[in-house]
Amino acid sequence: MLTYQAPAGLLKDKIILVTGASDGIGREAALHYAEHGAEVILMGRSVEKLQVVYDLILASTDKEPVMMPLDLLQATAEDYQEIANAIQEQYGRLDGLLHSAGLLGTLSPFEHIDINEFERVMKVNVTAELVMTQTLLPLLQQAPQGRIIFTSSGVGKKARAFWASYSISKFATEGMMQLLADEVSDSSLRVNCINPGATRTSMRASAYPGEDPQTLKTPAELMPLYLYLMGPDSQDVNGESIDAQPKRKPNQ
Ligand code: NDP
Repeated sequence: MLTYQAPAGLLKDKIILVTGASDGIGREAALHYAEHGAEVILMGRSVEKLQVVYDLILASTDKEPVMMPLDLLQATAEDYQEIANAIQEQYGRLDGLLHSAGLLGTLSPFEHIDINEFERVMKVNVTAELVMTQTLLPLLQQAPQGRIIFTSSGVGKKARAFWASYSISKFATEGMMQLLADEVSDSSLRVNCINPGATRTSMRASAYPGEDPQTLKTPAELMPLYLYLMGPDSQDVNGESIDAQPKRKPNQ
C-alpha cells in the first residue's frame, strides 16, 4: 500500500471531506483526491490558504471543490450539524473523511505542560475529530464504501520525552480510531489511521527548527497510502494504524 499506484479515476465522483486542507499533508491529499476524480470539501482555518487550494483544483480538474472554513478550536456541535446538513442536502452521503488538521502545541517537560494549552491541543486533535466524526457518521454510512482516515504520529504509539500534550492527544486519536473501527467492522465503512512520519511541512519545521527540510519526504511522496486507504482497494483494511515511512527512525 505504500507504493500503491492509484488508477486515474480511483475516486471518481466520491465526496470527500479533508480537514487541514489549507496546508501541509491535508492540502496535498485534497489535491490528490481531486486529481483522482473526487469532489472535495476543503476544511481549514485560513480562508486565504483554502482559496489557493480551491483555485488549484478548479484549474486542474473538471470538479468544483467546496470550501468550508472552520476554526476547530471554536467550533460547536451546531457548526458540525450545519456542515452535516449542508452535505446531506447537496450530496445525500459522504464517501470519505480525512482528519489531517492538527495542533502541535509546545514541546516541554511533563511538569510544565500548561493545562490551558493541553485543552487547546486536545480540542483540535481529539474533541473536534470526535464530534465531527459522530455528526458525519450517518452520512458516511450512507456511502457504499465509506472511509475515515485519522492522522496519528510516532509519539501517539510510543511516547517520547517532551512531546507533551501532542503525544497524549495522538494516543487518544489511535484509541478513537480503534474503537470506531471495531464498532463498524460489520458494515462497509472502514476506519484507519496514518502516521505520516517526518514530513516536510510547517508543523515539522516548528518542531525541529534546526533540521534541513530537504532531508524529509514531501507530503506528495506519502500520497500512495492516502489514496489507497481512501479508495475501494482497502476494503479489507480496518482498525489499522499504518506508518507511511516505516523505515525511517521514529522521531515524531
Ligand atoms: P501543517 O501545520 O502543515 O498543517 C496543519 C493543518 O491543520 C493546517 O491546514 C491548519 O489550518 C490546520 N489547523 C490547525 N489548527 C486548526 C484549527 N484550530 N482549526 C482548523 N484547522 C486547523 O501540519 P502537517 O500537514 O504537518 O500535519 C498534518 C497532520 O499530520 C497533523 O495531524 C499532524 O499532527 C500529523 N503529523 C505530521 C507530521 C509531520 O512531520 N509533518 C508527522 C506526524 C504526524 P490553517 O493552515 O488554515 O491554519
